[in-house]
Amino acid sequence: MHELSITQSILDYSLSEAKKHGGVKIREIRLLLGPFSGIVPECIQMYMDLLAEGTIAQGVKIKATTLPLKVRCRDCGKESEITRRHIACPFCESLRLEILSSNDFIIDSLEVDTDGD
Ligand SMILES: [Zn+2]
Repeated sequence: MHELSITQSILDYSLSEAKKHGGVKIREIRLLLGPFSGIVPECIQMYMDLLAEGTIAQGVKIKATTLPLKVRCRDCGKESEITRRHIACPFCESLRLEILSSNDFIIDSLEVDTDGD
């Protein structure tokens, strides 16, 4: 499963970011997922529970938001956002779409406790 390696990279990134800012505990990791990423947030949480054990991210909550996909229509030239349920230009119903945003996932923000220094 690719969620395992994704979770590992999310954890690595979060730990190094927390360390940079003097974090002593990571409480929440907020992710933005692309609509076609195929990433299942529940899987990320499950792997995170395992991988984060013994680190400052132990018990961290994964909060994921799925983003719409930004596209530009090759027929009418308009930009719009589509979801998996309706994969066509909302203006002219064309299927000739150019994808403008293709990020699989983005780490949006972290909720970190610092030691108060
Ligand atoms: Zn169109």
